[in-house]
Amino acid sequence: MRTIKTAVDELAILGGNPIFQMPKSTSNLVRPDFGNFLNYSKIFFEARQYTNNGPLIRQLEARLAKFHQTDYCVTFCSGFWALALAIKTLATPGKREVIMPSLTYRRMADIASWTGLEPHFCEVDPDTLANNATTVRSCINVRTALILGVHPIVGLCDIDGLTALAHEKNIPLLFDAVESACESHMNRRIGSFGNAEIFSLGASKLLNGFEGGYLTTNDGQLAEQLALCRGFGFKGPDNVALPHGMNAKLNEIHAAMALASLDDLEDQVARNRRRYQLYQQHLASLPGIRLLEFDDSQQPGYKNILAEVLEDWPLSRETTIRVLNAERILARAYYSPPLHHKKTAYPAIVPKLPVTDRLSRRFISLPAGHLVDETDIIAITEFMHYIHDHADVISNRLPQDASR
Ligand SMILES: *Cc1c(COP(=O)(O)O)cnc(C)c1O
Repeated sequence: MRTIKTAVDELAILGGNPIFQMPKSTSNLVRPDFGNFLNYSKIFFEARQYTNNGPLIRQLEARLAKFHQTDYCVTFCSGFWALALAIKTLATPGKREVIMPSLTYRRMADIASWTGLEPHFCEVDPDTLANNATTVRSCINVRTALILGVHPIVGLCDIDGLTALAHEKNIPLLFDAVESACESHMNRRIGSFGNAEIFSLGASKLLNGFEGGYLTTNDGQLAEQLALCRGFGFKGPDNVALPHGMNAKLNEIHAAMALASLDDLEDQVARNRRRYQLYQQHLASLPGIRLLEFDDSQQPGYKNILAEVLEDWPLSRETTIRVLNAERILARAYYSPPLHHKKTAYPAIVPKLPVTDRLSRRFISLPAGHLVDETDIIAITEFMHYIHDHADVISNRLPQDASR
């Protein structure tokens, strides 16, 4: 049972009962129709083909290529390995550095390091929270092997600027479009920009394949090489065509789940939009919290709910997150700490990144996805109003917080 607090003593962080029994997280965890998932699964089960480019992988790749309006789609066991293999294949031979934002996905620098290259962190644009032509340009040097454009979790990065820059400097451009699988730019769906784009089919992402990832491109040679690479480098029985093959294939049951998720996508986007609009409605009158707006012209998936903690919010971001988390509202600091502050086991190029440092302290990702319903959002936002209105008392009762 949910009860919004009637006294500060009832806050879970002060020993009261949490608002939620079941944690409300930021993970999408979309659950497509079970019957539909089973129907797809029957196809590979009856064909007795479980992996190695079976009927569902072929169907999924064809549908995703169509969805993203590209000539090719190549699936992988994860977004991580799709990125790693694409970086490795696209990087200019003999060069070492991959330019990427620091305010981004937690494992991004590790991915570059697995390919034997070095992350070179760049700034982000404070308006988009993503890298753009200006922030990338200042990092380009004779060692630059590849530019990685990464879309933020709300909105898009500077597609046109990065494309023009990559062209001007003759440097390959790869987009991590994991968080923008649905979006369009200039009425063209994300997927065909740069040399290639990468997506994930992980359970917390827009399309749930349990795990998985894929690349879209119009470059037939790249697609062929990556398809070889993910499957041991085999080209026909016992013919190993690549000196550096590995196993990074997606299998049939994951493809079945991804296909069922794809069938559900339009409905999902409508549900996400409803959740986003409820947050909008209930946070509009809350001082100190700014909800990041989706741009409807980009035809977004509305999956993520991101809020900025402004100067007039009465608690620090960290305290706010702790108070929310105690209620099992699993809000998270957005991409924090940024990658350039993490200890790594490999070298990285770290210029001064004051904008990233500042922004990395300001944003909160709020619960969203399939397990968050409308009454949950009303409870979450009501509780945020409660925190705001009782911030002085809450502050006094909590151990002192050094960050504000
Ligand atoms: C999750 C994520 C990945 C990695 O995808 P996995 O399928 O989980 O390996 C890469 N980039 C971004 C932006 C992500 O959010």
